[in-house]
Amino acid sequence: MPELPEVEITARLIGAAVADARIEAASAPGINALRSFDPPLSAIEGRRLLGVRRRGKLFVVEVDGGLSLLIHLMSAGRLQLFQTRASRRDRASRLLLALSDGRELRLREFGTRQTAWVKLLTAGGMAAEETLATLGPEAWPDPPPLRPLLNEPRPLHSLLRDQRVIAGIGRSWVDEILHAARLSPFKRGSELSQEEAGALRDAVTGELERAIAHYERSLALPIPDKLPMPLRVHRRNGEPCPRCNTRLEAVFYEEHVMCYCPTCQTEGRQLKDRRLSRLLK
Ligand SMILES: [Zn+2]
Repeated sequence: MPELPEVEITARLIGAAVADARIEAASAPGINALRSFDPPLSAIEGRRLLGVRRRGKLFVVEVDGGLSLLIHLMSAGRLQLFQTRASRRDRASRLLLALSDGRELRLREFGTRQTAWVKLLTAGGMAAEETLATLGPEAWPDPPPLRPLLNEPRPLHSLLRDQRVIAGIGRSWVDEILHAARLSPFKRGSELSQEEAGALRDAVTGELERAIAHYERSLALPIPDKLPMPLRVHRRNGEPCPRCNTRLEAVFYEEHVMCYCPTCQTEGRQLKDRRLSRLLK
């Protein structure tokens, strides 16, 4: 599940590798992947790639002539650079940019659902793009003070993952951040003290920085299908807390799992397991 650190390292590695390369052919084999029609995808053929940057959890692939590909990986997409062209049987391909030097930049998606998307936009289209316009401030490297930003009566676990509130954090890193800040995932944003908001901001920047630094040390092209994420809490329920050795617990939801340490985060309380309580109803 790619979040800010995974998108950041991908943008850095691929951006450096493709800068100045020429796009020979562009196609979008996924039926739902291309979500724009004007300009057509063929408008970038013959043009140079200028670079790849990140906004929130999205990629912006910049092409000369003022065009940009806005790419959202959703939950199972990957942006990958290959030394050769894709076989027609690569059913994971959603966008293919064949470069004139023989390499190929691909948006691929794993799993059964097709939700990753791409839009080809002009500068004006980028400025008007709603996905970008509604994004909150970047969670890294320098987010604004969090007390005013999170001042809503919603649980921190959902507020921090709301891209309109703060951009870049998802289901994996939110668990690491709340654990680092010693805050309950169910604490409401509007109930944060000044001190807690400060600790949370430090945890946001600290955890995202830790992840990016880890990837800088350990990753090189080609980026693997499955990134080894340096998580200490998320999906580690049943294991000892890395700080206090208490058994990490989890709350299971339909589509995700929330992990936490009862001693460090919830004053020893075990949070209700929604899955279990539904079964018991
Ligand atoms: Zn603990």
